[in-house]
Amino acid sequence: MKIRIGHGYDVHRLVPGRPLILGGISIPHTAGLLGHSDADVLTHAVMDALLGAAGLGDIGRHFPDTDAAYAGISSMVLLAHVRRMLSDAGYVLGNADATIVAQKPKLAPYLHDMEAMLCGQLGVEMDTINVKATTTETLGFAGRQEGIAAYCVCTIMHTD
Ligand code: MG
Repeated sequence: MKIRIGHGYDVHRLVPGRPLILGGISIPHTAGLLGHSDADVLTHAVMDALLGAAGLGDIGRHFPDTDAAYAGISSMVLLAHVRRMLSDAGYVLGNADATIVAQKPKLAPYLHDMEAMLCGQLGVEMDTINVKATTTETLGFAGRQEGIAAYCVCTIMHTD
């Protein structure tokens, strides 16, 4: 069976007065992520990994932030689109491993909910997606709480 690997990376700016949504889960915090959609940086990295693995470009190409249709949209809706694109191309997800880089808030209590949400939206078993979180020991933009970054790697297989 031919295995393909994908990688995704995304960053969004942290600003007051916005909800903080990561992996489709609303997290109480003093600031949230700025973006054209709901700015769910984790889900964006997951989608870019999936699209990259399938050779289908990236989310900027499929959901341009110049398109009013995607203003304020839940990234879960976009993830459902990506799921369809992959299955239409004959791929199934092997596994995905993601890391959120954020100084605050503490994300450990929410990681399982994020995994459950992402797995549910992609229609895969609960052990298919792993979500981790790390700080940067206050270094860099994430450490200064100017933004949150997310990385994801995944494998996909063709169903042939
Ligand atoms: Mg993004």
